[in-house]
Amino acid sequence: MIIVDSMLGKLARYLRMIGYDVEYIGNDKDDSYIISISKDKLILTRDKQLHERLDNSILLKSYSPIEQLAELRDRLPPVEHGFMELCSLCGGVVERTQVRSDLPDYVSKQATEIFYCKSCDKYYWNGSHTDNFRKMLERIGYEVH
Ligand SMILES: [Zn+2]
Repeated sequence: MIIVDSMLGKLARYLRMIGYDVEYIGNDKDDSYIISISKDKLILTRDKQLHERLDNSILLKSYSPIEQLAELRDRLPPVEHGFMELCSLCGGVVERTQVRSDLPDYVSKQATEIFYCKSCDKYYWNGSHTDNFRKMLERIGYEVH
């Protein structure tokens, strides 16, 4: 499990798309809350003070989520789920489902597979945006399975 602090929302979504269980901590929670739940987890933060209080944390320097991923290459634990198996919004496991008639035409046309997240009642599909994300990851040195 990876914990991501409130400054890294986009990174949290990318990590879920790669296949990591990620808990995003909103800015309604303070550092002591993060420290209280940090045991056996990896904490990603841009907050130097928080990083100094936690041995199991990585301090990210970049503001760009893609450069943050590049900073994390070779520093992350083994991936827990497959590529695009988790909902990027809530981290729930998505189900593969049939192309449905109530989805917009442009989805049915470009989708090769449809995924459904029960937890947040949202549909996803494999299409050009997934391919682009995969290519971006490969460009910065990730192996995507
Ligand atoms: Zn979801």
